[in-house]
Amino acid sequence: MSRFLNEKYRKLEAYTPGEQPRDKKYIKLNTNESPYPPSKGVLDAVNSRETADLRLYSDPECKHLRQAIAELYGVDCDNIYLANGSDDILSFSFMAFAGNGVRAAFPEISYGFYKVFAELYNLDYIKIPLKDDFSVCAEDYYGLNCFIVIANPNAPTGKTISKDEIIKILETNPDNVVLIDEAYVDFGGESVYPLIKEYKNLLVVQTFSKARSMAGARLGYAFGDKELISDLNKIRYSTNPYNINRLTLVAGEAAIKENDYYKDNCNKIIETRSFTADALKEIGFEVIDSKANFIFAKSNSVSGEELYKSLKAKGILVRHFSDEKIKDYVRITIGAREDMEVFLETVKEILEEVK
Ligand code: PMP
Repeated sequence: MSRFLNEKYRKLEAYTPGEQPRDKKYIKLNTNESPYPPSKGVLDAVNSRETADLRLYSDPECKHLRQAIAELYGVDCDNIYLANGSDDILSFSFMAFAGNGVRAAFPEISYGFYKVFAELYNLDYIKIPLKDDFSVCAEDYYGLNCFIVIANPNAPTGKTISKDEIIKILETNPDNVVLIDEAYVDFGGESVYPLIKEYKNLLVVQTFSKARSMAGARLGYAFGDKELISDLNKIRYSTNPYNINRLTLVAGEAAIKENDYYKDNCNKIIETRSFTADALKEIGFEVIDSKANFIFAKSNSVSGEELYKSLKAKGILVRHFSDEKIKDYVRITIGAREDMEVFLETVKEILEEVK
């Protein structure tokens, strides 16, 4: 830390992203990326004359992509917001909808960035414990009068709450924004985006990083009442109106047009998830029922940390969190079937070694 850093950031603990090592080739099951490549239209769009046009700024209104998304989901263009990854949308939302007496509230065990944003913007916030079975207790959020952020499915557990519970949260917090982070909704969850018509305080955030195989392109989108979207645009136009580059915009548009390809991929991932969970259970793992593209699992014979380290030594990356309440678990991204077969064989080898 330099002596120049503003006092207010000195104690800030930044988010630790999952490893992206370059030292050797790993089977990467640690950052919930898709094992499948982007669709053909995406590759064509990025290779096209758009590259030559990189000399020009991108469209700050992102009109074409917003239109494509609006059409696919049957909402108005004004209900769509785009940013550089859903992380940006989360960041801007914490900035826009909490503070000045409005506290932020989110589950104690969830996406680690929520706490970082709350601290970055110096907000008062509360972390709400999960139930013993790791599910979010929706009732704890009723009438909370906070800016509420819930990942549904939650990370790193993969557990969901129901649409009815979300409606109750929305109805009992009419004066606050309720943000539902649906980064993983395409793997078996139910999106609540259709509720934006009825609930002006609902913001639903999704991403191209998981189901649409574009984590490296950085593209997130949100659904909300047009006034919420315009609030978020105020922040975007006050920071970086060109925060989505030209290549990402055309790639996103092409991906929306080839939605069926991505749906098929999601179905394959769902199938592989159930294959992997069953196989892990057979060898003594406790596996939490997941609606995401990852599973959260705990071995009855090797610690979370040891499993993570042994897998890494054998060329497979999974994610381990040192937080006391979840330190026995590892989070395993669902890769292609062949990768999961190698993963399972490797886990069996490790279990033999620790016997
Ligand atoms: N929300 C959740 C729950 C996540 O796990 C992630 C990915 N790490 C994100 C949002 C951010 O995704 P991105 O910025 O790639 O859209």
